Amino acid sequence: MEQAKVYFADLRASVKENLLAKIVRLLDSIDLQSIVLPRSLVAVKLHFGEKGNTAFIRPNFIRVIVDRIRSLGGHPFLTDANTLYVGSRADSVSHLTTAIENGFAYAVVNAPLIIADGLRGGSYKPVTINGEVIKVAYIGSEIAEADVLLGVAHFKGHGLSGFGGAIKNLGMGCGSRRGKLVQHSDLSPKIQRKKCIACGNCAEHCSQKAISVREKKAVIDPKKCIGCGECILICSNQAIDVNWNADAVLFQRKIAEYAHAALKNKQGRVAFLNFLTDISPECDCYGHNDAPIVPDIGILASTDPVAIDQASVDMVNRQSGLENTSLTQNRASGEDKFGGIYPRVDWKVQLEHAEKIGMGSRKYEVIRI
Ligand code: SF4
Ligand code: SF4
Repeated sequence: MEQAKVYFADLRASVKENLLAKIVRLLDSIDLQSIVLPRSLVAVKLHFGEKGNTAFIRPNFIRVIVDRIRSLGGHPFLTDANTLYVGSRADSVSHLTTAIENGFAYAVVNAPLIIADGLRGGSYKPVTINGEVIKVAYIGSEIAEADVLLGVAHFKGHGLSGFGGAIKNLGMGCGSRRGKLVQHSDLSPKIQRKKCIACGNCAEHCSQKAISVREKKAVIDPKKCIGCGECILICSNQAIDVNWNADAVLFQRKIAEYAHAALKNKQGRVAFLNFLTDISPECDCYGHNDAPIVPDIGILASTDPVAIDQASVDMVNRQSGLENTSLTQNRASGEDKFGGIYPRVDWKVQLEHAEKIGMGSRKYEVIRI
């Protein structure tokens, strides 16, 4: 397979060119003007950050992207779909409120915010892909209906997929509530009683009220559990487990196929940016973000979602791990950083599967701008 082009802007800046101007140059390098046609509706898919999180992409970076799309005659809107778990983005009202509180107000970003899957996550378009694990994907309507999709991802760790980048931003991020349920549905979490300290955090976050704390231990009611997996990520004592070899692998394959579905019918109308900044160990769905595990690296752009994620993870792994972070093993340059945090998750699965189903190439060439 041919090498995909991935453009890279480091974070050096000067009086001659600040970082905002560099982002514009990065967008021009992927020939955004051939992707955004005049009057096209452009979905800028990002993560607005959970309330309390500060690692998400800064709104003023997003503003530059919006302004460039506008200058090309496109009509941009910022979008994300609602979450499954109980948090500050589970319905459009709280989601939009959180986004604005995190700085994504119109006055800052110069674009409307439209939640992709409706008031309570029920608005989706079925997209038939006949994949290995997903036949029909339920993609948030506003993303499915957009003419152009620009995936802007904060690259960081994730408890079930090792890392989250362009593929996860598309796959899980564009899925409606029904779509997210399908992607999580094979997880059957179990409480490891010895590790449980009965803090109750999992019970508080379970959208199905499937967890209760009894006799100083959490208990999951399998009749109520929908396998969304959120409790696994919430428990900071790693007291909730799944079958990592089977469940986490299937989960990543589903994410890749959902990402494929989000891109369907948008050939030549997609592009991706990965921000390798504030590379926190966990995703921005938490109301906190732990210290970055490696130094800030830069921003990548490509029209290939597989290549940009492969390049991103390779760049992270080339770094030396930072002191005083959750990364306590694999800290040397060249070692697997996300494997160091999540030793039971093989993050390569999402890349291999995405390449296998034709989403892009793991072979890439980095072009420094
Ligand atoms: S979050 Fe973890 S430690 Fe706390 S009650 Fe749930 S399983 Fe137990
Ligand atoms: S108990 Fe089941 S439904 Fe509740 S958060 Fe965990 S996986 Fe989701």
